[in-house]
Amino acid sequence: MTNRIPHIFSAVLILLVACSRPEQAPQVISVIPQPAFIQQSEGVFSIDRKTSIFVEAGDSSVIRSVAFLNDRLLKAAGYSLPVVADDPLRHAGEKGIFVLDAGLKAEAYHLVVEEGRVVLEHGGGAGAFYGVQTLLQLLPVEIFSEKRVRGIHWELPCCDIEDSPRFAYRGMHLDCCLHFFSIDFLKKYIDVMALHKVNRFHWHLTEDQGWRLEIKKYPLLTEKGQWRKETVIGSLSSGFYDGTPYGGYYSQEEVRDLVKYAAERYVTIIPEIELPGHALAAIACYPELSCGLEDHYETATKWGIFKQVYCPKEETFKFLEDVFDEVFELFPSELVHVGGDECPKASWKKCPHCQALIKKLGLKDEFELQSWFIQRMEKYINSKGHQIIGWDEILQGGLAPNAKVMSWLGEEGGIKAAQQHHEVVMAPYPKYYLDYWQADPDSEPLAMGGPTTLRTMYEYNPVPEVLSAEESKYIIGVEGCVWTEYMPTPARVEYMAWPRMCAIAESGWTKAGKDWGAFTRRLETHLGRLDRMDVGYCKAFYDPFIELHKDTQYSKIATISVDAPDAEIHYTLDGSTPTVQSPIYTGPFVVNRQQRVSAVAIRNGKTIGNIRYKDF
Ligand SMILES: [Zn+2]
Repeated sequence: MTNRIPHIFSAVLILLVACSRPEQAPQVISVIPQPAFIQQSEGVFSIDRKTSIFVEAGDSSVIRSVAFLNDRLLKAAGYSLPVVADDPLRHAGEKGIFVLDAGLKAEAYHLVVEEGRVVLEHGGGAGAFYGVQTLLQLLPVEIFSEKRVRGIHWELPCCDIEDSPRFAYRGMHLDCCLHFFSIDFLKKYIDVMALHKVNRFHWHLTEDQGWRLEIKKYPLLTEKGQWRKETVIGSLSSGFYDGTPYGGYYSQEEVRDLVKYAAERYVTIIPEIELPGHALAAIACYPELSCGLEDHYETATKWGIFKQVYCPKEETFKFLEDVFDEVFELFPSELVHVGGDECPKASWKKCPHCQALIKKLGLKDEFELQSWFIQRMEKYINSKGHQIIGWDEILQGGLAPNAKVMSWLGEEGGIKAAQQHHEVVMAPYPKYYLDYWQADPDSEPLAMGGPTTLRTMYEYNPVPEVLSAEESKYIIGVEGCVWTEYMPTPARVEYMAWPRMCAIAESGWTKAGKDWGAFTRRLETHLGRLDRMDVGYCKAFYDPFIELHKDTQYSKIATISVDAPDAEIHYTLDGSTPTVQSPIYTGPFVVNRQQRVSAVAIRNGKTIGNIRYKDF
């Protein structure tokens, strides 16, 4: 017996050594989006090969949610945990992760990490999935590695997290018409959305510049309508074209596969079929859908708004109803997006059929004709058990009875719709438009306008203050819009979308008030996750943003900011490279003609981003 004592001592010693290892810093909890309630305590729960996950037998959706933890562990740690599908309470004394149905609301979860066990309470698959997303973010960021990482202690800091979303609708949009993106990329896009508890993917599928969805009854839509003969180079009015045919579409089989993939991650795909405007690609295939004022219709080759729109004829409605019939077969989403934006009235004004119809229906003008068009489509879509959502312009001439509004033209449309007791998703331009510059346009690639910085997006409050408490209830969520005029590749999409979308996701999920400084600290850790997921996000977070404000003919006022926390900005005015020895920026200063402001962010004596400069 006596010789066992040294063994115990050495075991204790090994534990002590293990606890004081210097290579892994103590974990500061950095979850994005920030949970509703979070309390960290001392100690950690260590995951190793022997840790079991206990789930209730027969709960297949929960078992599927738990599998996402094992997927990550298998890649990053080289092993997955045994899943024991049984009554977890029978294993109460064992070390492990207990996943329990506590009857919480659908997306809510309660996660308690103690040294001996982890308890994840939920009310079903969605809550379990979100609990797992948070659990993954409690682990070292290496858990997001695609390849095995050695030497990591897979530890969860002890904590108590209670969480549920602020909004039911937390959306992210992607325009796959102006540029086309593969299903593989869309799966990655959905993976990153799911990490942020974003639960709606708004898939923009039809446009003037290309029709991307296979419709079996109208094969020309993809045979011909997917193509444009060339694409404008630079901005929409440059006048230069690349001379290269551009196309791409999604087969119904691919769509079904993506819908299923998204559903497993609790993401509902909302398809958008644009009407009555942005219809040129369809009209180029089937000119009888137009007002017939032109001899020839062609898929658009530049960006913008086109006057060739659907004519509200019986054959047009038949076409659209047929299209939606196939859409409903593919997309289980109750909500479908009907566009409704940017529909010029020029063709309807000249068209004898449209003018006769206005008279016959006793409508005031073409705006009321648009409203009638959408209401007629809504009636059909409602009869099939679906609801419509459309951009602000569906308010013109009167809102369809059950329509929801996606407010993009600033806040006005959203306010008006909420006051009329219609549900609203806030996606305001330019605050939630990810095609806008996120940093100084002088150092960024071509974008739509702006800049709309990370901080602007973070600080935007999606519930307009003019709304009463009662009216505010009609704001059901938020959405970040990714229009791809200037995003021809997946890399550009990721660059524009992230990390700004992290800020929108947090506004969609987190009920608590905003704290920009705390967000930047969490985000810096979070960027390490995006790195491991190979998301090519914009790194302007670490760069000074120099702005020169008008003063006199001879002077301007410079302000410099940086998003990264705990960084000092050092700057020069003589064109020399700023270093740690250069003056520290403390507030606005005067810049004279011939001066160049050069700045860099420095933390702990080290440069953390790029040098940025701006001439008078
Ligand atoms: Zn017409």
